[in-house]
This record gives sequence, C-alpha cells and structure tokens, in this order.
Amino acid sequence: MKKKMSAIVAGGGIGGLATGAALAQRGWNVTIYERQAELRTAGAGIWVWENGLRVLEALGAYDDAVRGADRVLFSEIRDNNGRVIDAVQIPRHKRVINTKRSQLLMALRDACLRAGVTIVTRAEIVGATPRGEFQFAGGQTVRADLAVGVDGIWSRVRQSLNLELLHDQTLEGALRTIVQGKPGDFSAADENKGIENWNGQRRFLTTSINRDEIYLALTCPSTDQAGSNTDVDKGTWSASFPMWKHLIDRIGSDVTWGVYSTIKAKTWSVGHAAILGDAAHAQPPNLGQGGGTAMQNGLAIAVALEDVDDGRDIPLALEQWERRERPVIEHCQKWSQLYGEVAFMPDDVRAMAMRAAVNNPWVAEQVFRAANHIPTGTEHISSWAERAGIIMDEPVVAQNGPFKVKLESGRRYYWCACGRSKAQPFCDGSHNATTFIPIAFSSAEAKEAYLCGCKNSSNKPFCDGTHAKL
Ligand SMILES: Cc1cc2nc3c(=O)[nH]c(=O)nc-3n(C[C@H](O)[C@H](O)[C@H](O)COP(=O)(O)OP(=O)(O)OC[C@H]3O[C@@H](n4cnc5c(N)ncnc54)[C@H](O)[C@@H]3O)c2cc1C
Repeated sequence: MKKKMSAIVAGGGIGGLATGAALAQRGWNVTIYERQAELRTAGAGIWVWENGLRVLEALGAYDDAVRGADRVLFSEIRDNNGRVIDAVQIPRHKRVINTKRSQLLMALRDACLRAGVTIVTRAEIVGATPRGEFQFAGGQTVRADLAVGVDGIWSRVRQSLNLELLHDQTLEGALRTIVQGKPGDFSAADENKGIENWNGQRRFLTTSINRDEIYLALTCPSTDQAGSNTDVDKGTWSASFPMWKHLIDRIGSDVTWGVYSTIKAKTWSVGHAAILGDAAHAQPPNLGQGGGTAMQNGLAIAVALEDVDDGRDIPLALEQWERRERPVIEHCQKWSQLYGEVAFMPDDVRAMAMRAAVNNPWVAEQVFRAANHIPTGTEHISSWAERAGIIMDEPVVAQNGPFKVKLESGRRYYWCACGRSKAQPFCDGSHNATTFIPIAFSSAEAKEAYLCGCKNSSNKPFCDGTHAKL
C-alpha cells in the first residue's frame, strides 16, 4: 500500500493554502502553520489571470473565489491628462477576474478543509532544516517528509535555509483599499475596465470588484510622504487625479501601505525543505501575477510529488519541480520589474515608451506569457472559452494568395493570424479583440518567402496552397 506522506507548510496566505490543498488532494497529510491569529489578508482586490483561474479550478476553489466578482474586460493606461496611452481589450477567450482577497483566501481555506488539511493559527515558524523540520517561536520543532515555506517576502524559512540570493525592495509602494461603489462612478465606456492613471511618479488604479465595491491602488515612491500616508491625504491625491476625486473622497481607514519586493532564491529547495510564492519569487505587482504564480507553483509542487511514496525520492522530485517551473515564473518576474522601470520617466517620455512597447507584438507576448501559460496540473481542464461556448473567430482572408516577402537573417517577425492587420502579412495588433494571436518566426538566413495571405494554411506562417481551395 502507498505510504501516506506528510507535509508541513509555513504560511496560510494564497500560496500556502493552494499548496496545502493541492498536496492533500493527492493524499498527503498536511498541516499549515499561520503566524496570525486568523487567516486574513489586507482588504483589497486582486486580479487573477487565466493561469491562476485554471489553478483555482483544479483545486475546486474557483466558484467560491470568484462568485459575484467582476471580469476585467479592458485594461487601460492613461496619462496625466486622462489621455489613453494604451488600451488592451482582454481577448474574449481569456479571463481576468478582479476578486476580493478575503474571498479568494476563504475559497482556498475551504478547499483545504474539504481535503482534510489541518490549519493551525498563532503558530510562528522561525526556522527550518533540510530534514523537513520547522522550528516555532516557542522553541518546539515539528518534522514531516516535506516542509514548505510559503511565508511571504520576509520568509524565515528562506532565510534559515540560506536560500536567499536577492531581495530588492522598490522605491515604489502602494496604498490599497476598497471603497463602496455607487451608480455613475464610471461612465458607460469605463465599465469593466481596469484603469491606471499616471501623473508624475504617482499612479491611481481603479477597478470594480463587484456590484458594490471598487478596488483602488494608489502607487507612489515611499519618499512621497503625503502620498504614502495610510491616513490618506485626499487633497493631494485628488489634486493628482481630479477625475477620480469622487472615489478618493470615499476612502476610509482600512488602508494598507506596502513597497514591492523582488526575491530570487539560490534554489527553491534543499533536501526535504522548499520555498515558493513570495518567499521564493516575489515580484512587483505590475503584471498582477504574484498571487497567480504563487498558486500555480503550489499546485505544481504537489503534482511533482504525487507519485512519490518513498521520502528519499523527495529531494530529486523537488529539483525536477524547480527545473520545470522556474523559467516561466522568472520570466514573469523580469517583465514585471521592467514595467516598473517606466515609473520614473518623465510623463511624455513614459507615454511614448509605453505606446511603442504595447504596440509591439513581441512585447505583448512577453508580458502575457504567464497569463497564457497552462499551469502544471491543469492540463486536463479544457479551455474556458470552449466551456463558455465562445466560438473562436474565423480568420479574415487578407489576400487570396501568398505575400512574397524578403526576410532578413535572424530578425523576428510576427505573422498576422487574424487577417485584420493593416500591415499585411505582419501583425499590427489588430488581433487584440479576437481569439487569435500572431505567429512569431525568424529565418536563419536572408531569403524570399511566401507568407500565407488567406490565413488558412496548414503550414503557417507559410503558404501551402490552401487559398486555391477556398
Ligand atoms: C500592491 C500590490 C498589489 C498586488 N496585486 C496583485 C494582483 O492583482 N494579482 C496577483 O496575482 N498578485 C498581486 N500582488 C501580489 C500578491 O499579493 C502576492 O504575490 C501574494 O500574496 C503572495 O502569496 P504568498 O502566499 O506567497 O504570500 P503572502 O500572501 O504574503 O502570505 C504569507 C503568509 O505567511 C504568513 N507568515 C509570514 N511569516 C510567517 C511565519 N514566520 N510563520 C508562519 N506564518 C507566517 C503571513 O501571515 C501570511 O499569511 C500584489 C501585491 C501588492 C503589494
């Protein structure tokens, strides 16, 4: 009979609960230790992209996590004059949901409890060993086949295992809060939008959570004393963003301030101990993926260990887990950091840089790579679009025959797949509102090529003669 393996998890946040639920669902005996007196998280919203939503589905927590929550249909960046710098329409076949953090946390907690996880609160872990041990603040120790530190940016587990490679804190931070929503808060054109306005080094993000609540994130450098005060200086924020004064005026006392961390670990595991979530790969929230990747990695570690029934195999399984998961998570971390770089540019330069970047399909591919990633352990879940009966778009025939082009050696091209681009046969971003994505390709040598114009070739991006049969 397969031996029941045991795991102890430090931290009952989004990542810790996802890890606990995923392991317990695979037959592990799991105990989560949380430092606080109860499971709780700052009262704000959180964007969960397609990758995180698939993880929630795999864990059986999706319905509870997003019940009543709004889908974000557009993500818009505006300059200090309210002019749109960038407007991304989330493709119809992709989801981004802005839910309440507390709702997400409770949904994960309930998934844990259904799977038989024990959750112990007021339990502060102060250290860990590669043998799979945790030490508590009171001096006691506990040991299991696996010890996972999901204890956030100041992870004691990471520090005690000497796994820290880098912990950078940004100069920027954010005030986060939720305000009551009222009819007329947004113009009809602004419904279901995540709108981020920039003014100097301040940013103001507004996005509705549900019918009654709106999530606000007010970002500024920590040296901005008036801006970073949790007793929010409504006058100064309204002066920066007069168009949102009606929301700023409603801010109450439940406001948190935090700077952003980037964390890299030498390795994610040593022996029978591992770290994940912010403890291992915290990133600035610019792409809204810190929580998504924490949940994603919690499920992934459980999948990597699901066939292990001899504790001696755990260290190797953990190494394989890291090799598989680290590239996509660090890619996301890098792009989230890069996005933050524009914060300190002058308004005009920033607007130009962002416009140029967001219209570049290669940049878009990098920025949305994590969101488009199919997380380990969710491969069996069919696409949401299919389940929602979203009919994938038909391509437009741009030309009933191939486009003859001269390709340069080593240059990256983006072939238009939707047929709607005005820069045929290449992408100009017109696919944004469709279910298509452009095909990236390059040629090792300079040569002429015939690129498909009817968009129905079986050898995309190249012509295979299909146009003759249309
Ligand atoms: C302003 C801002 C906006 C963000 N927006 C988004 C977003 O839209 N989408 C998104 O996906 N992510 C977002 N993030 C990132 C996201 O919040 C984090 O990546 C996510 O919370 C990480 O989850 P975690 O479980 O790893 O860590 P945490 O959420 O920090 O949880 C760690 C838990 O461990 C507990 N703990 C700490 N130390 C100990 C100890 N010694 N012993 C026991 N327990 C301990 C803590 O009390 C806590 O409950 C945002 C972050 C910020 C700062």
